[in-house]
Amino acid sequence: MKRRKLLMIPGPIEFEPSVLRALGAQTTSHVAADFIEIFGSSLEMMRKVFLSESGQPFIISGSGTLAMEIAVANLVEPGDRVLTLVTGYFGDRFAEIIMRYGAEVDKIIAPLGGSVEMDAIEQKLKSQRYKFVTVTHVDTSTGVVVDVKQLGQLAHKYGAMIVLDGVCSVAGEELYQEDWDIDLVLTASQKALGVPPGLALLMVAPRAIDGWRSRKTYISNYYADFTNWLPVMNSYEARKPSYFATPPVNLVNALNESLRLILKEGMEVRFIRHRLLRDGLQAAIEALGLKQVPIKREVAATTLSAIYYPDGVDGSKFLNKINSEGIIFAGGLHPEIRNRYFRIGHMGPTVPGEIIQAISAIEIALNKCGYKFEVGAGLTAAERIFLNSRN
Ligand code: PMP
Repeated sequence: MKRRKLLMIPGPIEFEPSVLRALGAQTTSHVAADFIEIFGSSLEMMRKVFLSESGQPFIISGSGTLAMEIAVANLVEPGDRVLTLVTGYFGDRFAEIIMRYGAEVDKIIAPLGGSVEMDAIEQKLKSQRYKFVTVTHVDTSTGVVVDVKQLGQLAHKYGAMIVLDGVCSVAGEELYQEDWDIDLVLTASQKALGVPPGLALLMVAPRAIDGWRSRKTYISNYYADFTNWLPVMNSYEARKPSYFATPPVNLVNALNESLRLILKEGMEVRFIRHRLLRDGLQAAIEALGLKQVPIKREVAATTLSAIYYPDGVDGSKFLNKINSEGIIFAGGLHPEIRNRYFRIGHMGPTVPGEIIQAISAIEIALNKCGYKFEVGAGLTAAERIFLNSRN
């Protein structure tokens, strides 16, 4: 029996063997010629993955929360006003970070499982001058994706920038940073980018760089300050040695390999594959009579699914049964419904066969928890979606 369990939580995810091999290679000097090449080419590949040719990439040690804080520390000045769109737990986190830096935060809070309305955003933007708007592309606590295509244009019409938390979206969910005119996109390594946890990554478009350059006040967070990092990123890209704080050499090596694999697949193909995984799982969930946290299909993310336990099914028993089937799902995170739902990550290198494995485990676990349904209904529905995609 296979001892290793299939990890299907919304990050960290299962990583490609070659990425793990890159991580485990002997550590070299952070100013060695071969590492400079790896760092420099990783920055270049990041632009292609974020689809932002004019963006300034940053690779910094830390998690997604640090990436959020770096964005805020560099853009916020005391007394600024920021509009935060909240579609779950991570929107609230963004607001908290922003307040720590002395800005006033207004929130638009979406109904649980819903997205934010463009009209409501425009009303707010009309009523006040905001320095920027923050949006969580995919909130990992609800599985809700916000349609951000028009948001850049809308925010700019009212003189505000747009800052996107792409921790659970970049390299999975469709995102064209430059075409959609998003001023700053941040992410972390452990999700759809397919690299073990530990990297905070940002892509800062020219408008946000100008916003940072034109600030009047000192940046109180030393580690986060772009003033310290920009020369390092520029040097690596020019294939020259540089130092501010020791980079996580092994993680950057792993990032380089993962970015190479992502670009080999191609961004469009990758977005389509993520959509297919989501559609297959959704079809199964519906066929089994389960309800999802996102209130309609159009707001369900392609990188993870958030699913309510059916009435009468005990969540911890269900997750234990899933575990016995060799798969790890995540429990709930949103404080209002924490014990009422579970989450499945399906991003990065996930393939339809793993979705089928997950559905099979769900059917077995539901059956063992006493839930009545037609055995095989979920598997059949998903297989139909996967078969149709091949025609
Ligand atoms: N934003 C979103 C949307 C996330 O999903 C997460 C992590 N789950 C974070 C921010 C914070 O990232 P980290 O846990 O790496 O600090």
